[in-house]
Amino acid sequence: KNFEELGVSAEILKAITEMGYEHPMPVQEEVVPYLLGENNDVVALAQTGTGKTAAFGLPIIQKVDVENRVPQSLVLCPTRELCLQIADDLYNYSKYIKGLKVIPVYGGSSIDSQIRSLKRGVHIIVATPGRLLDLMNRGTVSLSTIKNVVMDEADEMLNMGFTESINSILQDVPKDRNTLLFSATMSPEIARISKNYLQNPKEITI
Ligand code: AMP
Repeated sequence: KNFEELGVSAEILKAITEMGYEHPMPVQEEVVPYLLGENNDVVALAQTGTGKTAAFGLPIIQKVDVENRVPQSLVLCPTRELCLQIADDLYNYSKYIKGLKVIPVYGGSSIDSQIRSLKRGVHIIVATPGRLLDLMNRGTVSLSTIKNVVMDEADEMLNMGFTESINSILQDVPKDRNTLLFSATMSPEIARISKNYLQNPKEITI
């Protein structure tokens, strides 16, 4: 199947075609139509390089209501580098969707400038857990309008000691959201997070 047959919109199709994406990668073939079609949770065991960013990125972009300038999707990831990479990919995928706003927030950089950009309005937040929690505690970001949560490289986030931050963050996101968990490995901790925060997830191994 091609991206059009997976349900990807014309604007996104134009952007990814320009990026050289001709054929969906296996994780995209599984995840994209599933997320576009239904409101369900996913656990995907997928390594870096398998195309997982587009697998979650294309559907969450397509589902944004641009007119409603509130945070609608949240992507959690372990490092500043990954945060910037994901935000950049989402920005490129949404190049032809006017007004769609993606903001990366991560530690080790000025919180004030991140607060200022959040104040201007955002649809998709890509965040490392510690910095996001800091912003939440300062009352500068609310997650009450979030409809999709993606945990990318969840095993790495747990290894880096973000378990408590992730718990606090997920308790602040409305229960009737979609939750997607991507991890390179399955472990008892990943299984526990999945059990606690995902509802009847589709499980995919790439
Ligand atoms: P990721 O696993 O998300 O880090 O993606 C790995 C690399 O594959 C990135 O450079 C993507 O831009 C690229 N990529 C993702 N999906 C496709 C696709 N369908 N066709 C060609 N390249 C892709």
